[in-house]
Amino acid sequence: MTDSVVDSILAARYLRKGEKTFEDICHRVAVALARNEGERQEYYEAMHSLRFLPNSPTLMNAGTEIGQLSACFTLYVGDSIPEIFHALEWGALIHKSGGGTGYNFSKIRPEGAPVQSTDGVASGPISFMKVFNAATDVIKQGGRRRGANMGILNVWHPDVLRFIHAKNVEGELSNFNISVMVNDRFMEFVESGQMGKVWITHPYTDEEITVGAIWNGIIDGIWRNGEPGVLFYDEINRKNPTPQLGDIDTTNPCGEQPLLPFESCVLGSINLSKFVSGSAIDEESLKRTVRMAVRFLDAVIDNNVFPIPQIEEATGKTRKVGLGLMGVHDALLMLGLPYDAEEGRRLCERVMALVNDTAVEESHVLAGERGVFPAFEGSVWGEYGMRNAALTTIAPTGTISLLAGCSSGVEPVFSYAYTRKNTVGKTFVMLHPIFEAELRRVVGALGLGSDEVEERVQAVIDHVHETGTVRDIGWLPVSFRRLFQTALDIDWRDHVRMQAVFQRHVHASISKTINMPNAATREEIGEAVLMAWRSGLKGMTIYRTGSREDVVLALKEKK
Ligand code: UDP
Repeated sequence: MTDSVVDSILAARYLRKGEKTFEDICHRVAVALARNEGERQEYYEAMHSLRFLPNSPTLMNAGTEIGQLSACFTLYVGDSIPEIFHALEWGALIHKSGGGTGYNFSKIRPEGAPVQSTDGVASGPISFMKVFNAATDVIKQGGRRRGANMGILNVWHPDVLRFIHAKNVEGELSNFNISVMVNDRFMEFVESGQMGKVWITHPYTDEEITVGAIWNGIIDGIWRNGEPGVLFYDEINRKNPTPQLGDIDTTNPCGEQPLLPFESCVLGSINLSKFVSGSAIDEESLKRTVRMAVRFLDAVIDNNVFPIPQIEEATGKTRKVGLGLMGVHDALLMLGLPYDAEEGRRLCERVMALVNDTAVEESHVLAGERGVFPAFEGSVWGEYGMRNAALTTIAPTGTISLLAGCSSGVEPVFSYAYTRKNTVGKTFVMLHPIFEAELRRVVGALGLGSDEVEERVQAVIDHVHETGTVRDIGWLPVSFRRLFQTALDIDWRDHVRMQAVFQRHVHASISKTINMPNAATREEIGEAVLMAWRSGLKGMTIYRTGSREDVVLALKEKK
């Protein structure tokens, strides 16, 4: 990543009055969170070396008057005008402070239901979502980014078909990601092919809604433009760490945090590529960073300025944090392990298990020092004292991975050559550094003259920039072509497999896109959702290449 890209991210997002550099930001954040000089140095070093970064709101707001440090929130939406419009107000406050909000709209009575106080009829959850969408347009997050929302409807809500089709027209509900919360019962009907089964009879229109109508609606929506996402209610609740506090039916905007009503969560991500040492991961060093990160994120909870008392209360009860990884594909490339092979997955499984187990140990140590989380009694942790009800997640790391100059979250690299604009609007081609170095090495090893080496290197770069892949360049070594696969080269089954590997060792959930080729059929999309459900995922997002209008540019501009 060039310095100019980093500088423009810093200026647009993170620098506060009087600050000029990334060092200034690390200093402000470390001072705000550390309890003593030793911690201050540790936190500063971890961020400054780009080994660990907290989510954007912490970088933006720690040590400032705003003081709101979390990225993820869920809000309760009840079935009355005050309850709906309170949520709207709270959502606006959260967006203003840099957080994203998730809502499950299923409590709202369906369209056509009677409204007693006015003798009228209800307009249903989707009509209210439009109000939330419009409010988001008006409030730019913390003045620095646009608000993100997740809108969820349970598959057992009578307006589910309207919800599934709510984003069929591109541009509708543009500030929302939408997801259908399905349950095992529904998926079992799908799996056994009972498409004609009447799933719900709409209480006010008497329409008989079949399993097939819902399923086909979901699959068709995904095929058209990648929405709705699908969330798996039963799996989320089988893994709910505090079942005594109630079921979980909502996630934050990118899906990585299933949360109870009014909970919030701070995220932080370790850049795995910084822990590659020779041909292995430096596990001891990784473990030290995990321990530091757990303390760091736990301190965020105590220093957080929460937007409303309900959020402070719910967050204080469970003290959930979301520690995860970024730079995972970069680390695999450095180790020479293909993302879509068993060896790559084995490494990821080992690393994530190590991160998760170490995080749990550290939370246990913290519980000894400062006490268990208040809702510990009745939680799944039994006798093992814990400071935090949940510790791990995989965030998208959309901005912080740019800052760290690594691949985002656990996603495969999108393209090894892509166009960027500099500050004066001039475009230039950026190369993935590991790709470029390895390309030069393999072409250099062919025994050609230096001019021809340059020509060949340039030809590969041009080809990648044009087509997005090296797969079809026959003269490149097979091992090179096998290693440098992109998100679009990788088979969707391997995307799902990788998500499943991480999910096994993550308390919360995983933000990931399952990419499918443009030619993917509706049947394949259906297979992918079924595979995700069977693999124990808590949710999934599928994107079929080219199904949205802006994709032609995306291929060239996104990493
Ligand atoms: N988020 C948001 N607005 C944005 C991007 C992200 O509200 O424009 C929230 C959302 O809840 C998302 C979470 O922040 O799930 C984490 O996103 P990401 O890891 O991309 O954030 P970063 O810390 O890299 O900015």
